[in-house]
Amino acid sequence: MRAYSGEKLCAKCFTESIEDKVRATIAKHDMFKPDDRIAVAVSGGKDSVTLLHILAKIESGFPKATLCAVTVDEGIRGYRDEALKFAVENCRKLGVKHTVVSFKELFDIQLDELVNKLRKDRKRNSGGLSPCAYCGVLRRRALNLAARRVKADKLALAHNLDDEAQTILLNIMHGDALRVARVKPVLEKKHPLFVPRVKPLGEVPEKEVAFFAYLQEIEFQSVPCPYASTALRSDMRVMLNRIEEKHAGTKFTVLKSIEKIRSALEASVKGTVPLQECKFCGEPAANEICMPCQMLHELGVR
Ligand SMILES: [Zn+2]
Repeated sequence: MRAYSGEKLCAKCFTESIEDKVRATIAKHDMFKPDDRIAVAVSGGKDSVTLLHILAKIESGFPKATLCAVTVDEGIRGYRDEALKFAVENCRKLGVKHTVVSFKELFDIQLDELVNKLRKDRKRNSGGLSPCAYCGVLRRRALNLAARRVKADKLALAHNLDDEAQTILLNIMHGDALRVARVKPVLEKKHPLFVPRVKPLGEVPEKEVAFFAYLQEIEFQSVPCPYASTALRSDMRVMLNRIEEKHAGTKFTVLKSIEKIRSALEASVKGTVPLQECKFCGEPAANEICMPCQMLHELGVR
């Protein structure tokens, strides 16, 4: 088999090379302190379950550090309930404490109900945001709340190299070029209520994560979300994979290009207003009312 660098490796060496890559990413970006309490966001899918296994191994070498897992149950019948079983089972095998929070509990609405509402409203007004856009905003909030609930110092996300390269290019295609500066391995503490996020798989290509999971016989949910966008991201994934096949290293180059210009981009956003507290829920917000509250209000939930 062939690792990303092009070397031919046996199964054992391949597995070790991925673990080394994750260790190197963690060290390079100073992601953890030896006594951190780390919450891994585990959806039950390939990337998050693999990250949990790798971090459990690394953490075993740091006796003062603790690892736990958090899962957000969005309320997607036939999908999240299945994924949840994989999350629970992997945490049990690794002896990792697992906490589940749900959209219903936090926002009084499940994603299935939210999508039904959107579909009804859409019949009256065309346009509007996709289910993924709502889910993304609410998930980010739910993960931060879950990380705080388990008293985590860091929240580890399983975004891989493919996700990061896609997001960078998607931001450009959406005309939101300054947002590419926010695609980074460590999202710092911008507000006392915000748990810093780290992405230890950010330099590992999706194919390698999948192969690692296969070699380690890790079990995960492989069915895609029924609401997964068929829009630009999946086209971007296909395009990047085609280019990568012909020109190995392209995804990595996209990531590195942003690293080179990030400080210039950040400096160009002058007078950025610090995060404040939402006047409804008290959570960190860029404006007077946070995005989740705005969305829930528009949907008539709150
Ligand atoms: Zn709010």
